[in-house]
Amino acid sequence: MIPFNSLSDELVTAFQSVVGRNNVFISPEERERYSRDEMPNPRPAMPEIVVVPGCTKEVASIMRLAAVNRIPVTPRGGGTGLSGGCVPLFGGIVLSLEKMNHIIEIDEANQTSRVEAGVTLGDFQEAVAGHGLNYPVYPGENSATLGGNVATNAGGMMAVKYGVTRHFVLGVEAVMSDGRIIITGGKFVKNTTGYDLTQLLVGSEGTLGIITNITLRLGLPPKIKEILYIPFPDLETAIEAVPDILKCGITPVGIEFMEKNIIQIVEKYTGRQIPFHEHEAFLMVLVEGNLESEVLQAIEKIAESVRSHDAIDVFIPSGEKARKELLDSREKFYQAIKKLGPIELADVVVPRNLIARFLKEVKSLGRMHGIDIVAYGHAGDGNVHLHPIGKGLSRDEWENKLPVLMSDIYKAGLKLGGTISGEHGIGFDKMKYFNKFMHSGALETMFTIKKALDPEGILNPGKLFDIP
Ligand SMILES: Cc1cc2nc3c(=O)[nH]c(=O)nc-3n(C[C@H](O)[C@H](O)[C@H](O)COP(=O)(O)OP(=O)(O)OC[C@H]3O[C@@H](n4cnc5c(N)ncnc54)[C@H](O)[C@@H]3O)c2cc1C
Repeated sequence: MIPFNSLSDELVTAFQSVVGRNNVFISPEERERYSRDEMPNPRPAMPEIVVVPGCTKEVASIMRLAAVNRIPVTPRGGGTGLSGGCVPLFGGIVLSLEKMNHIIEIDEANQTSRVEAGVTLGDFQEAVAGHGLNYPVYPGENSATLGGNVATNAGGMMAVKYGVTRHFVLGVEAVMSDGRIIITGGKFVKNTTGYDLTQLLVGSEGTLGIITNITLRLGLPPKIKEILYIPFPDLETAIEAVPDILKCGITPVGIEFMEKNIIQIVEKYTGRQIPFHEHEAFLMVLVEGNLESEVLQAIEKIAESVRSHDAIDVFIPSGEKARKELLDSREKFYQAIKKLGPIELADVVVPRNLIARFLKEVKSLGRMHGIDIVAYGHAGDGNVHLHPIGKGLSRDEWENKLPVLMSDIYKAGLKLGGTISGEHGIGFDKMKYFNKFMHSGALETMFTIKKALDPEGILNPGKLFDIP
């Protein structure tokens, strides 16, 4: 039995009076686009209503009405999530932050910015660059919102040097399940003032509060950026080279790994050839700095190191266009692979020196279950993206075999000291595995926090925990 109430006509009128009639969607056509995200195996669910607030006070009023009437609320940013996090499984309200998209302040002196949660990553990067500053977290998709990035603790390619979204969030304003507004942190790095509520909300996937404002740390942009694209005879050899690259004296921004099959898939998708595509495996090392001599020295050291690990060659795209094209091809892996038909996506993370061992086990599991798996990911931080591919299987075979394979994959990652999700979050896609495999004490503590902050269970029910 669904433990929530349905909307009444009076409530619809009440929401309209809070945000204005134009910011409430009730027709099926309008609601449809809020029923899904970018998860590979979509399981859409229609909200009963979509409410689009313009400010924090409106969010608070909506939450108060929802709490009193026991209506579920699913926060939504750009809808680019890959785990079904913003899909309203229990209907109710989708609360879309799309109109809270103002950059409130870019503070050059403190190198910080305060934004509304609906600002997109792309708009933010552009605005910050206009002030001669840099927000170096780049979680792959420009149309994602900063609120969504914070709610999923998004990662991306730059994590080796800079870390992930969490490391740039200095404070938030959020609306809790009962409509209370809280403000945490500020324009400072040091803060030991009570519990760290900022970081509790980071990665909470809309289950603990609605993030309305964010204070972010910024930095200065590097003057020089280069990419080393390095073919290897096989993936194991490529991965074995990573620890020594990290000892070269300069921390690369990112180290990506990929195999021949994904290169062929993306070449077909973009219609663009990638150099050395005939080889079996590759590392893509991103370096940056301010002095040409410093960057050149880093390149030489990395080249020397990978050659001692049997790299076949070291290719450095010359010029901005070639560099951008190579990066663009890497960024298009997911769109390209999605075209292959039914696919799944896991973003397991393991200690980076165990990636090769993990992949060996994963490939052998794939063979055992008769499912091809394409792998690529962030070699510098152990985050492995795995795509089981359903091509050649009947629908029944795919649906029966896939959950068993996924369960075996997560078990293999955890056995190596890894965890279920490195950057895409749990949503409902990985909920089963999260509840089954996580340390029971940690899981119970998380559930206790959820119950304390959202006693009626109205915030994003059906995510992380299977009990609303
Ligand atoms: C092509 C592509 C590439 C991608 N590459 C990466 C990558 O490299 N790294 C990476 O980490 N991710 C990546 N992603 C996944 C996705 O972009 C991120 O998960 C992103 O952070 C989601 O932001 P969003 O605004 O779209 O959030 P949504 O999808 O709308 O929501 C995601 C979750 O956050 C919650 N939420 C959203 N806004 C708020 C808010 N204001 N307050 C509280 N909760 C909220 C939702 O309820 C949901 O649980 C990629 C996605 C695509 C399609």
